[in-house]
Amino acid sequence: MSQENKQAPWMVSLHGGHSGAYCDHAEGALEDLVQAAIQQGMGTYGLSEHAPRYDVANVFDEEKAMGWDVAHLLKLFGDFVAEARRLQAAYADEITLLVGVEAEVVPDGRYVEVMQGLRREHKLDYFVGSVHWVDGVIIDYTRERFDQAVAQCGGLEALALRYYEIVAEMVESLRPEVVGHLDLLRRYGGTDPALETVAVKERAKAVLSLMKEQGAILDINTAAYRKGLDTPYPAAWLLKATRDQGVACCFGDDAHRASEVGAGIPEARDYLLAHGVDRVTVLTREGGGLGRRVVSLL
Ligand SMILES: [Zn+2]
Ligand SMILES: [Zn+2]
Repeated sequence: MSQENKQAPWMVSLHGGHSGAYCDHAEGALEDLVQAAIQQGMGTYGLSEHAPRYDVANVFDEEKAMGWDVAHLLKLFGDFVAEARRLQAAYADEITLLVGVEAEVVPDGRYVEVMQGLRREHKLDYFVGSVHWVDGVIIDYTRERFDQAVAQCGGLEALALRYYEIVAEMVESLRPEVVGHLDLLRRYGGTDPALETVAVKERAKAVLSLMKEQGAILDINTAAYRKGLDTPYPAAWLLKATRDQGVACCFGDDAHRASEVGAGIPEARDYLLAHGVDRVTVLTREGGGLGRRVVSLL
């Protein structure tokens, strides 16, 4: 089937494709996810495996228990890129695969140079820029670590302010094409009003202004549904601000197994339409480089 014949051109994910071969908390082969994306009728699917981590302090407990270290994570990422490029060519007639990385803000102080080096080394198509670490503590891994991050910052509002400050720095310095799960703090912060104070909203909106300036695309991330939240990331107030500021958005299934490919995207489309967002911006591969296309949700 040619891409022109796809039934739903908005059925695209720019953030996902985590698979068991390269990620300890995912399952299955990368090819299984790609085949699932084709079955879902996706014209474009972004493979954005987690960046390797370069400091043993950022290696997860389960990874350490399996004997993984920094060198092993680096090797796995190289293996991911090789397989993703093979699949990109093998399935080129059926789907446009983008090969990227979900970039991290670790190692502290030098992540920009390290992530840009990773992109150059592997000639990656694009960055999903995400913030999972606030001053050395991961915020979406366990409740205990999240509580530690809250305590370290001196409260939930203070954590939110610091988090959006780091996101803004990341957007400005890394210039990612896609900004991942912008209000990830809801994973453990839920609907706590401390995540929606005037000061927090101001800082989150400052991130959107930067994104608008740079043409970055906001990830409408459906993993939030799987975490028990009633909307994707971001929450409704942030989505309204996104609309008002004219920031581009696109879906991300953040799939960690084939069954999650495309999951929640039809619901997320309804969510966007309900808030007056009637288009998404899709990345494409054009003439060997990256292109963009605006697609109607209607
Ligand atoms: Zn993951
Ligand atoms: Zn993420």
